Amino acid sequence: MSDQTAPESLAAVFRRLIANTGPISLMHYMGEANARYYASRDPLGSGGDFITAPEISQMFGELIGLWLADMWINAGRPQPVHYVELGPGRGTLASDALRVAKRFGLEPEVHLVETSPELKHLQLANLPQARWHHDLSTVPGRCPILLVANEFLDALPVRQLVKTAEGWRERMVVPEGERFICIAGSQPMDAAVPEARRAAEPGTIIETCPGAAAVVYEVAGRLVQQGGAALFIDYGHDSVQNGSTLQAVRAHQKVDPFINPGEADLTALVDFATLAPVAESRGCRWLGTVEQGAWLQALGIDARARALAEAAPDQAEAIESARNRLVAEDEMGSLFKVMGLAAPGWPRGVGF
Ligand code: SAH
Repeated sequence: MSDQTAPESLAAVFRRLIANTGPISLMHYMGEANARYYASRDPLGSGGDFITAPEISQMFGELIGLWLADMWINAGRPQPVHYVELGPGRGTLASDALRVAKRFGLEPEVHLVETSPELKHLQLANLPQARWHHDLSTVPGRCPILLVANEFLDALPVRQLVKTAEGWRERMVVPEGERFICIAGSQPMDAAVPEARRAAEPGTIIETCPGAAAVVYEVAGRLVQQGGAALFIDYGHDSVQNGSTLQAVRAHQKVDPFINPGEADLTALVDFATLAPVAESRGCRWLGTVEQGAWLQALGIDARARALAEAAPDQAEAIESARNRLVAEDEMGSLFKVMGLAAPGWPRGVGF
C-alpha cells in the first residue's frame, strides 16, 4: 500500500521544526503529541491503548450521576441547568450519569467540550442530544452548570523546569538518533519558580500544568457567576512534589514518551494541591480532594455492585472485579483523586 496520503509523522515534523528554529519546549512537544494522538483514534478500551473508570463499569458514571442529582436537589432544583463534560471520551460516563440523573427529575441540556473529531463521532452515537464545543469559552453562561472532567487534566501539556549550575531552566526537546531527549534551555527561568522552591539540588525538576490551572480557574469563575458544581477526577497527588511524572501509554503498556510522539497517550500526574487554591482564588468553594475509592464507597458503590450482581448472577464475578478495580488501594482507589468544587450557597456534596 502506498503511504503517499498518510500524514507526515509528528517525529518528522518536530525534527524539521527543531532544525529550523531550535529546541522546542517539553510543553510544546506534549501538547502537539496529544493533539495528534487524540485526533486520530479512539484510544479507550481493551482493544485500544488505555482504559478509564467509566469504561471499566457503568457504576462509575451512575454514582457521578447520583452525586450531581443530589447536589441539584439540595440546591433547590434550579432550572434550566446544564451538564458540561470536558474530554468525554466515548460518552460512556455522560450516558450512565444522565440515565441515573433522569430518575431524580434532573434532565439537563448537555454540553461536551471535545477537540477530537474521532471521539466526537462516538459521543454523537451515545449522546445525540448533546452540543459540542472546542473549548469552554462557547459553553453558555446563563444558568448553573454540573461539570465533570474524568482523566482530562492529565492529558494537558506540562511545563518542566530543571535546576542547573546556572540556575533554573525550562526543559527543551531535541532529537538524538532515533528518539528525542530533554536538554536544559538557554533562557533563565528563575523568576518562574516560587521563592520557597528555588534553592534546590542541581537536577531537581519542577513540573507545572498551566493548562490545568487555566481550566480550573475558568470553571471556578463560572461556578461563582452561574452557580453549580464540578468534579475533577484524575490520577494525581494532593501535596506539592518535585520530579517529572510524564509518561506514555500504548496498548496498555508504559512506553518511552520520547519515541514516536503522537502515537502514544502522554500524561502527567495532576497536581491537585496547586489547583484547589486556584479555584478558591475566584471565590469558589473547594469541597475537598479525596481518594476515588473512598469517594465511590461513600456514594454506595458496594450496594450498587450487590444490586447489579443480584440482577445478573452470571455477571457477579465481573461486577466484583470491576468494583475492586475502581476502589482497591493497589488499583485505582488511592492513586485517583476526586476534587469537588461548588458555587457559594450550593451544598457540600456527598463524599467530601
Ligand atoms: N473522560 C473520558 C476520556 C478520557 S481521555 C473517560 O474517562 O473515558 C481524554 C479526553 O480528553 C479525550 O476525550 C480527549 O479527546 C480529550 N482531550 C484531550 N485534550 C483535550 C483538549 N486540549 N481539549 C479538549 N479535549 C481534550
